Amino acid sequence: MQAHKPISDGHSWYAEPMAPVPERPRLTFDLDVDVCVIGGGLAGLTVAREVARRGWSVALLEAQTVASGASRRNVGFVLPGFLETIDRIIERVGMDQAKELWTLSERGVEYVRETIRDTNMPGVTPADGWLQVAKFRHDPALNKTATLLSEQFGAQVESWSAEQVGAVLKSPLYRNGMHFPRAFTVHPVNYVQGLAAAAEQAGVRIFEHTPALSLDPAGIRKRIGTPSARVRAAQVVLAGNTGLEGLMPRLAASLLPVTSYVVTTVPLGDKLREAVTYQGGVSDTDFMDNHYRITGGDRLVCSGGLTTWQSDPKRFVRRLARDIRRAFPQLGSVAIDHVWSGTTGSPVHKMPQIGEIAPGVWVSNGYGGQGYNTSAVAGELIAAGIVEGDESWRAFSSYDLVWAGGKTGRSAMQVYYWSCRFRDRFHAVFNNAPDAP
Ligand SMILES: Cc1cc2nc3c(=O)[nH]c(=O)nc-3n(C[C@H](O)[C@H](O)[C@H](O)COP(=O)(O)OP(=O)(O)OC[C@H]3O[C@@H](n4cnc5c(N)ncnc54)[C@H](O)[C@@H]3O)c2cc1C
Repeated sequence: MQAHKPISDGHSWYAEPMAPVPERPRLTFDLDVDVCVIGGGLAGLTVAREVARRGWSVALLEAQTVASGASRRNVGFVLPGFLETIDRIIERVGMDQAKELWTLSERGVEYVRETIRDTNMPGVTPADGWLQVAKFRHDPALNKTATLLSEQFGAQVESWSAEQVGAVLKSPLYRNGMHFPRAFTVHPVNYVQGLAAAAEQAGVRIFEHTPALSLDPAGIRKRIGTPSARVRAAQVVLAGNTGLEGLMPRLAASLLPVTSYVVTTVPLGDKLREAVTYQGGVSDTDFMDNHYRITGGDRLVCSGGLTTWQSDPKRFVRRLARDIRRAFPQLGSVAIDHVWSGTTGSPVHKMPQIGEIAPGVWVSNGYGGQGYNTSAVAGELIAAGIVEGDESWRAFSSYDLVWAGGKTGRSAMQVYYWSCRFRDRFHAVFNNAPDAP
């Protein structure tokens, strides 16, 4: 690898070309509102905006600044579906409910698209398409899933042959693929900041540097304590991702915190433009996944590596650079400009936590590695539930709050990730992948 010191100050590459962001106040006075939302990421901002659009008063409390968590650190793939596979969803809830859930997941994608369009959101640079490709050998499961989704669920999805994949990704590793033309990618920071502006436009009052420290959910008016003031609200929405341990331990215990790592290469010029002509997001699947796309014209942003604790992102620079080189040996040893990590909570069942868990206490959480469409649809469902008494959110009630196993659960999941990585390396060697470790 070329000698090049990556920037690793906790900020993502996306924090650099960012649209201007306003300073928002701390909460310093007691407040009475209809709804108090805790957490200012994709989940909290969407539900707050949707409640305010329906005419109710909303205060949103953010412990740090808007989107200081996973929502500013992701790779910006806006995809239909869920973290859980469609086969396992059908197995658990049956075909009819699985179809309902899939339709909601697609609605989430459209919500993001409409929000960008309706608010003329600056700097989001949407690029169409998501291509999931098989690594090392043909994967019949991708074709099977594409057929199921298009024939039974009416989804817009295509099976791609190895030749079709090879025409847009010049990689010796890839075989067949599954293509979602209506998925797209966004600039994560500009989207979430645009969403915050849209929420404020709808009337949401956002207070930054205002952690919710306590919650008394009893009674008609819930009480939320912050360092220097108190909020009273008829309804509370918990949207703090992995940060809710102090407020609601049971909810926090139902999430496995998973950290993943992202790098951005230096500009790679024509070499990259020739290797990758696909402009949307790409996920290459095997035992371990990498997700990548072109950004800034001729850089590659690539995520991979999962740990159940927060490791130093710099430790993942060599590994992700090697993953890129294995996929595209013609790029040579790529230098990395930025590296960062993000943590997000994943429930054991890999489905989001959406709904009312006690009278007037709602949850929009547990989005794992797929937060755009799921948090968007949750925002609409929960707002309709709060304001209109609509019960469509119950489509998710088959997926309860399940204990994630505490430290034992984390260790077991880490061992599973390591075994996936090991099998991935084994296949790289077995299949003579270039630069195999
Ligand atoms: C590296 C990486 C790549 C990803 N790529 C994608 C992708 O391409 N596509 C996709 O769909 N998803 C992706 N995801 C997942 C996605 O980013 C998350 O699912 C989503 O951002 C979760 O949003 P959130 O609002 O629930 O959480 P967050 O964005 O983490 O927001 C939670 C907020 O709540 C605040 N908070 C916590 N506790 C309190 C409290 N007590 N009081 C006040 N505020 C509090 C935090 O400060 C934080 O700002 C990725 C995630 C990572 C880490």
